[in-house]
Amino acid sequence: MARSSWSSKKKLSPPDPTYRGRFAPSPTGPLHFGSLVAAVGSYLDAKHHHGTWLVRMEDLDTPRCVASAADDILRTLDSFGMRSDEPVMYQSQRTPTYQAALQKLQNNGMVYPCCCTRKEIADSALHGIEGPVYPGTCRTGIPDGREERAWRVRTFDDAVEFNDALQGCHSQNLEKEIGDFVVKRADGLFAYQLAVVLDDAEQGITHIVRGADLLNSTPRQIHLQRLLGLITPAYMHLPVAVNEAGEKLSKQTLAAPVDVSQPASALIRVLDFLQQQPPAELACSDVRRVLDWAIQNWDATKLHGVKSIHA
Ligand code: GLU
Repeated sequence: MARSSWSSKKKLSPPDPTYRGRFAPSPTGPLHFGSLVAAVGSYLDAKHHHGTWLVRMEDLDTPRCVASAADDILRTLDSFGMRSDEPVMYQSQRTPTYQAALQKLQNNGMVYPCCCTRKEIADSALHGIEGPVYPGTCRTGIPDGREERAWRVRTFDDAVEFNDALQGCHSQNLEKEIGDFVVKRADGLFAYQLAVVLDDAEQGITHIVRGADLLNSTPRQIHLQRLLGLITPAYMHLPVAVNEAGEKLSKQTLAAPVDVSQPASALIRVLDFLQQQPPAELACSDVRRVLDWAIQNWDATKLHGVKSIHA
C-alpha cells in the first residue's frame, strides 16, 4: 500500500519533512504549458508540505531526446524559481540498475523474451485501454526459428487497485486490459514503465504528482513495484491541459514553448488552470512572490475528479 497519503480535508496539510516529490520530464523539446502544469503542481505540493522536490530527466528514449532540451528545461524551471533540491538524475546514466532489475525478474521467471512484431500483435490481439492487449503468444516460449525481440513481464488476472488523491479509486485487471507488457524494448532500450519504478525507488519518492494521462500506467508501475519488492508511493494525477480538439498539449500537437520573458504571468496562468484562484493583485508581483503565495495557499482538493481542462 501507499507509504503515505494526502489529507483529504482542505487546509489540513501538516508539514511532512519526509515528503519526497519529483518532476520527471522527457527532454524531447522545451517545456510547454502542459508540462509546466506538472512541474508547478508537483513543486507546490512538495513545498506546501515542507518536503523535498527533485527533478529527473527521463532521457531514456534516446532516439526521441533532443540534445539541448534537458538544459533548456532546467533553465526554464529556474526562471520560475523551481530548482531540484538534489542533483538532477539522468535515466541515460542508469542502465546498469535497469539491467540488474531485469536480471532479478528473469531469475524469478517473471519476464520472458518475445519475438512478436507490432503487426503480429495487432493482427491477433483484442483491443484494450491502450491499444492491443498482448495475447500471450510467447508466454510459454519463442517458436522455433524466431528470434527474441523484447522482454515482457507476466501480468495476473486480478485487480490492481490504488486510491488516487484526486481521481479516486482506480482498478485495472492488467492481464485482461493491458496484457503482459514490455520492460525491455526490441531496440534494446529499457521501457519507461520499468525505469520510472526503479528511479522513484532510488530517489526515495513518497508522493508522485503528475498528469492524468499517466493514470492508466500506474497499475503497471504498482505491479512492477510488487514484483521487485519496492514501496508504492502515494499518487496524485492532475488534470492534463488539452487543446480545442481535446488533445493533450504536447510536442506532437505543436504546443508552444513556455514564454520565460514574463514568468510571473505564465505562473499565474498555471495557477488559474489548477483552480488556485490567485488574487488579482498578484499580477503586479514578481515571480518569487507569486510562487510563495502559491506554496502557502496550495489546495489540490479544488481539482477533485478533474482529468482534463481546456488550456
Ligand atoms: N517522463 C514522463 C513524461 O514526460 C513523465 C513520467 C512520470 O511523471 O512518471 O510524460
